[in-house]
Amino acid sequence: MDRPEIILAPGPTPIPPEVLLAQGSPLVYHRGPGFGQLMREVTDRLRELYRTESADVFLITSSGTGGLESAVQNVLSPGDEVLVPLAGYFSERWTKLAEAHGLNVRTIEYEWGQKVRPDDLAKALAERPAKAVLLTHSETSTGVIQPVQELARVAREAGALVIVDVVSSLGAVPFAFDEWGIDVAVGGSQKALAASPGLAFVAISDRAWEAHATATLPRFYFDWSIYKEFAERKHPENPWTPAISVTQGLHAALELYFQDGVDVAMKRHRTLSRAVKEGVQALGLDLFGAGLEDNWTVTAIRAPEGIDADTISDRLRSDFGVVIAPGQGPLKGKVFRIGHFGYFSELDIIRGLAALEMTLERLGHPVKRGAAVAAAEGVFQEAPGASNDA
Ligand SMILES: *Cc1c(COP(=O)(O)O)cnc(C)c1O
Repeated sequence: MDRPEIILAPGPTPIPPEVLLAQGSPLVYHRGPGFGQLMREVTDRLRELYRTESADVFLITSSGTGGLESAVQNVLSPGDEVLVPLAGYFSERWTKLAEAHGLNVRTIEYEWGQKVRPDDLAKALAERPAKAVLLTHSETSTGVIQPVQELARVAREAGALVIVDVVSSLGAVPFAFDEWGIDVAVGGSQKALAASPGLAFVAISDRAWEAHATATLPRFYFDWSIYKEFAERKHPENPWTPAISVTQGLHAALELYFQDGVDVAMKRHRTLSRAVKEGVQALGLDLFGAGLEDNWTVTAIRAPEGIDADTISDRLRSDFGVVIAPGQGPLKGKVFRIGHFGYFSELDIIRGLAALEMTLERLGHPVKRGAAVAAAEGVFQEAPGASNDA
């Protein structure tokens, strides 16, 4: 019998039944009061999540990368210099995107899995200024949460715009658009918020709007001025036909998210993260990446000596229907990744760890049966309330 895959990946994450029902409901026509209200409620919630009073927040029909592209196109001009601290797959995406748009891209290179150091950024900006710094808050390829608050402070002091990919961090770990002095932050529907893929969102500061006024890169579909004009109509609209169903789903997802509140969600992510980390360590596996106690979105785990990490993820899927994420770039075959942000419960984690134990044993890696599950249970018993319905 075919069963749905059990997703333990860092996006798309599992989707609650309420969200599936909402997005399977009859369409709310996208020009009119019904959709206008939907949009207003969704963007109000998102503004709360971004922790901003003043920023404009727009919904864009695209995956997260479209939102990143919109950021580049709306505030920059050909030949502008941008600085990218490069420490993983998604910061590398920033460089590719910026190069494709004819920008002058400078990088500060780190080994994947490291934290970006604010001092390095300060030094690079002192050597030569940049129009913008392109940051990745949660580097999903390594699990590392980058110190965006400090990096943003350094970038601002040097007069650079601060543009941040928060696709896998918004709603997962603490973030504060206004307080941290962020100019553009791009999120996505399919990560911590547990909605379907298909919507990106951007938060835009006044400084970013000023840059927008003189930016000359070509833009049309993603032109924020057009989004603003439509968002300010009596019944807010999207300029183009939006992913209506996904918006209905995202609305339901945000309702669920805010039922417990932001703090409870973050605490849950922290607890689930600890359970995964202690669980795999109880199997004798090593964790990957800097700052592990902060990395609540996804855990990167080194495959044991002699076993290809991709074989572990392949066998988890073929034997148990459990989907985890493989290593990317230079980490391919070396690490596998377990996601634990979004609509995950304690038992989802326990189930995944049990499958991992059996998989490792089948691949010839000696494990003490139940060791990972026992370690995770230990974490949960010390920190009750990690489940979704707590
Ligand atoms: C998932 C993710 C993205 C977006 O990828 P899309 O496939 O375009 O939605 C961007 N940045 C990070 C850090 C991500 O985790």
